[in-house]
This record gives sequence, C-alpha cells and structure tokens, in this order.
Amino acid sequence: MVLKASIDQTRQLLSRLVRCPSVNPAGCERFEPPFGESQMAQLLAELLRSWGAAVQIAEAAPGRPNVLARFEGPAGAPTLAFECHTDTVSIEGMTVAPFDAIVRDGKLYGRGACDDKGPMTAMLLAIRGLLDAGPLPVNLLFVGACGEELGAMGAKALVASGLLKADALVVGEPTDMQIVHASKGVVRFRIETHGRAAHSSEPARGVNAIYQMRRVLQVLEDEVAPRLEAKPHPLLGPPRMSVGTIAGGTQVNIVPDRCEILVDRRTLPGEKLAAVAAQVLEPLERLKQQVPNFQYAAEYAEQFPPLWTDAQAPLARLVKTACENTMGRGELTVAPWASDAAVYAAAGMPALLLGPGAIGQAHTVDEYIELDAVARAAETYAEIVRLYGRLETRDA
Ligand SMILES: [Zn+2]
Repeated sequence: MVLKASIDQTRQLLSRLVRCPSVNPAGCERFEPPFGESQMAQLLAELLRSWGAAVQIAEAAPGRPNVLARFEGPAGAPTLAFECHTDTVSIEGMTVAPFDAIVRDGKLYGRGACDDKGPMTAMLLAIRGLLDAGPLPVNLLFVGACGEELGAMGAKALVASGLLKADALVVGEPTDMQIVHASKGVVRFRIETHGRAAHSSEPARGVNAIYQMRRVLQVLEDEVAPRLEAKPHPLLGPPRMSVGTIAGGTQVNIVPDRCEILVDRRTLPGEKLAAVAAQVLEPLERLKQQVPNFQYAAEYAEQFPPLWTDAQAPLARLVKTACENTMGRGELTVAPWASDAAVYAAAGMPALLLGPGAIGQAHTVDEYIELDAVARAAETYAEIVRLYGRLETRDA
C-alpha cells in the first residue's frame, strides 16, 4: 500500500496550519491571536469532524484547549494514538514572515512549520490516506495537545483527567525520521537558607543567609554532583545537576535573612523521585547538625519525567519495521530534549517520537520544513497503522 501524499496536498494542509497562529501564551498570559491554541483547536476539530471522527475539545486550563479525535476501528481492536502539539514558540526576532507559509525551493517557511505543524501535517495526511483506502484496522486517535513548549501542560492534563487512553502512542516531533525512544527527565528544587537580618555595621548580630547558602553550594558542587557520574545510563549517560539561579539579600547595608537557589537535576529512566530528593536533602540535614544557626527549606519547583520505551518493546520494533519498509532505514535513538512522549510513557502508555524535519530547524528565526520530507513521512505513519493492525500481541 503506497500512501505517499502529493506535494500539493502537503503544501495546502501545512499552509493552513502555519497560517493559523498558535504561539504559546505562557509568560505573557495573552490569548488573542497570535497567542493561544484556540484557533488551531477549532481548525483541527472542524477538519477531523469532516473526516468522520468523534471530536472532543477539553481545556487543560482556561483558554488552553486539547483536541482528541477518534476514528473507530473494528470492535475490540487496540487504540493507537498519533499526537502532536498545537502550540509554537514565540515569533520574536524571526527573519521570515511567521504566518505567511512562504514556499521556496521545496521548503515551507513559518513559525511551527517544523515544530510541530510539519509532523502534524504528515500524521493528518496519513489518516486521510488510510480513510480513503478502506476501513481502519485499529482504533485511531489523533491528539492535538496544547502547551507543550513550556511544561507540557496539555499532555499532563490529558493524562491526569484520564481523557487520553491509548495502547500505544506515536508522538510527532521533528526527529529527522529517527525513532526517539529515550530521553532524560528533569526535577527542579527550590532551596532557601534562612538567616537573621541585622545592620551591616554589626554583622555578628545577624545570621547571613548568603554565607549559609555558600555552604549549600559547596556541598552540591563538591559532593552531590560528582557522585552522579558514577552510574551512567548506557544510552543517556550520567544524570546531571546544576544550580541555575541564585537570589538573596535586599540591600547592601543589611545582613541578608534569605537566599534562594534553583537546582536543575536531569534524571534517568528508573530513578525514583524520592531517591533523587534524598541525594540533595541528606547533605542539607547534615549541615543543619554541624553548622550553628543553619536553617533551610527545600521544595520541588517543577518536574518532568524521563522517556523510556524499550528498544525491544513491540511498539519500537513495529515502528522500526515501518521505517525500514517505507524509507529503507529505521534507527532508534535518544534525544537530549524533553517532550510530551515522556508524560504518556510515565503514565504507562508506550510512546515513541518520530517525525519529519530536523530539531535544528525548530525554534529558529527562519524555521522551515521540506515539503517532500513531510509527504514521505505520511507514508511511514500510515505503514505504522497498518502494521499495528496486524500485531498479534495487543500489549505494544
Ligand atoms: Zn515540538
């Protein structure tokens, strides 16, 4: 079955998506165009409804809609989901018109062309092609998730609400059609030291929270971080830790009573949150025993799970075969960046990343994608659905 979409079809659909601005509003809290995913959600809902899907729009937060479109397959068949994010990064500093979808030398330019509307176009064209070819062999879900670029709020809401239930997910991101099955996660801690304010002419009357934080930094840099090097993951390398921000004190003539740091800890598949936290907290507790007047508070600031879907899992093997069948190559790899796929995998749904376009062309001032790569990717996505329909074991 050859389902390669035509360049014309590809250009038409991708242009529609790029001309529908969906800049992630986080940080500016604005919802009028070009900000927010509402217009994109409407566009997708209308398109997929016209193709016969049962479509649901569910807000992850006010003004931040997720879209789920379900195409029924045979009764009792497993559910395969194609997921893409509907938001884009900011358009600031762009050197090409962000929403004009200009085509030059086979490349379509614009914000989101590569990340994530190119992969989305390929997934949609695959669905269209499959629908034209006959009954679907599986239940097929298309998911447009909001808010991926900053914290994956859409994916997290889909999992927390139980709205998204799939036996396997293929997440479309620009991976140059390599299959990404693993990436590190991240846990961020906020640590504060508490001192006692005093006039700087009599510093001994106070407790300097910045000096106390110096002890924390020393322990983190000299003890905690080096220990992480001891147990590297065979594919992802060692976990990592770094202090990213520091703030303390109010005025130069006051002994500061407060200092705060944010710690970024990159986690590996299998690392337990409690163990990661203990690595940071135990040395702080020790300081509390050893150093007079040492007071601290620590909390989670943010967390994002690692992605791990075993390379030998049925889904990984199947996607690899689909790539080999359609492109003559199927490579499993790891990525240094986080994505929605990790959220789904952490919730027990096997997930992989695969999509046309290079990550190096995402978030750039002249973002583009090659139309031919998008058209060819549609063929691979369609092959994944076809193979999934034939899968003997239903636990991919
Ligand atoms: Zn993306």
